[in-house]
Amino acid sequence: MKCDRCGRDFPSEFYFKAKGVCSDCYDKLTPEEKVEAKKPPKIHAMTTTAFTIDGYQITKSLGVVRGIIVRSRSVFGTIGAGIQTLVGGNITLFSELCEQTRADAFEMMVSHAQEIGANAVIGVRYDATEIMQGVTEVLCYGTAVVVKAIE
Ligand SMILES: [Zn+2]
Repeated sequence: MKCDRCGRDFPSEFYFKAKGVCSDCYDKLTPEEKVEAKKPPKIHAMTTTAFTIDGYQITKSLGVVRGIIVRSRSVFGTIGAGIQTLVGGNITLFSELCEQTRADAFEMMVSHAQEIGANAVIGVRYDATEIMQGVTEVLCYGTAVVVKAIE
């Protein structure tokens, strides 16, 4: 494990006072910085496809949260992608669209989680369904939880 402040490598969590801050660096922090260092990071960093988060314990489960985006392909994008399909390789016009759609669904899920008081989302999954020709529903879901750092 590396300390985020001094960059030194330590064999275990035992040498850390807070997430990413070793004992030596922690002692040099101001009282405000110490409080800040003990706080869990922002919820975006606290999302995982796993069902646990290293260094944290789940104190409360708030149920499933989801974000759904329904998007159609634009006619121009479809023509461009059609040309790319002939050339082969990565169809960037579609991968950008999928990437953006998934990011939007993810953002929506995260804000729902925050609304109900969660500070982390575990077991995050994506799902996509084609509702009709050219119209795709992208679903991002996970379990909203409240976690606290393990002392
Ligand atoms: Zn350090």
